[in-house]
Amino acid sequence: MKKHNFNAGPSILPSEVFAQAAEAMVNYQDSGLSLLEISHRSKEFEAVIAEAEALVRELLGLTDDFAVLFLSGGASSQFFMAPMNLLNEGETAGYLDTGSWSSKAIKEAKLFGKVEVLASSKAENYAYIPSQVEVPGHLKYLHLTSNNTIFGTQYHWWPAASVPLVADMSSDIFSRPVDVSRFGLIYAGAQKNMGPAGVTLVILRKDLAGKAQRPLPAMLDYQVHIENGSMYNTPPVYAIYLSMLTLRWIKEQGGLKAMDKRNREKARLFYHELDHNPLFKGNVIAPEDRSLMNATFLPLRPELEKPFLDQCKAAGIEGLKGHRSVGGFRASMYNAMPVESVQVLVEVMKDFARANG
Ligand SMILES: *Cc1c(COP(=O)(O)O)cnc(C)c1O
Repeated sequence: MKKHNFNAGPSILPSEVFAQAAEAMVNYQDSGLSLLEISHRSKEFEAVIAEAEALVRELLGLTDDFAVLFLSGGASSQFFMAPMNLLNEGETAGYLDTGSWSSKAIKEAKLFGKVEVLASSKAENYAYIPSQVEVPGHLKYLHLTSNNTIFGTQYHWWPAASVPLVADMSSDIFSRPVDVSRFGLIYAGAQKNMGPAGVTLVILRKDLAGKAQRPLPAMLDYQVHIENGSMYNTPPVYAIYLSMLTLRWIKEQGGLKAMDKRNREKARLFYHELDHNPLFKGNVIAPEDRSLMNATFLPLRPELEKPFLDQCKAAGIEGLKGHRSVGGFRASMYNAMPVESVQVLVEVMKDFARANG
């Protein structure tokens, strides 16, 4: 049966990517060797990482002011690596608390400097994005989570700030055009929208690197990774290869404008049904904060949860169960998800309402 993959992460990737990745795993470009058994310093792999970087630059329109790094340790390592590198002792960073990932980032930043939480939606279980905040000019940077994967909210505007923005874009990177000139640092674990788990994309304004006053271990120093082209140590070669293939796919589809258009169409289809279906309600308070990537929703009555999930399963829908901190359901509709999968979900919701309404 055809599966419709709504998993939140690791999550759906284009099927073309898997076909090419399978080939590279066994026999890379007819070399008789797997991509996994050749040197990361071979010309073959050098070409892969160079193309991955070029695609990141092209898709986001990056200037030479920015470095592009492929690191390991997940987005969670950036929670500490960012303040470790950018925030000296006695300096203050601003943070916006819009979910579990933001609050983890805040906790880690406190290990290295002062943190001002400028706004938080925690009291409402993160069901909205705090609106316009005052951003004091003495901050070193302002950190935000662009898309709150667990709670289903997303920034559709950027705070006005005279200081560089630092963003965790793990779950919406490459889903829409972004004016990168507003940012000092963008990081993203690949496994939501860009590739498999194991590699983390870091986009950093070069002038911000190498300014830490504290001694840094080499592996945790952005400057070291910039100087070594992400190859200070052996990089996660296969994860970088799959990310490169996914970036190629995004480009072939028409780039970020095309991704944005399709993601909007999927979200419009889904939320239209949610707003008209009598058996479900949205979790996010303000419709303008709804995520285009992760739609969180609840059954009107708790006893409807299991039968709905069973009906989804029967239709080939996978990964719809909500995160434990929200409950209910979460439909993750990343770049690689076709519109048809959302149409199938909408049909199941309609059928369910007819049968149980
Ligand atoms: C998944 C996720 C993370 C955690 O990423 P890891 O790569 O597992 O460390 C952090 N932030 C956001 C927004 C996420 O969606």
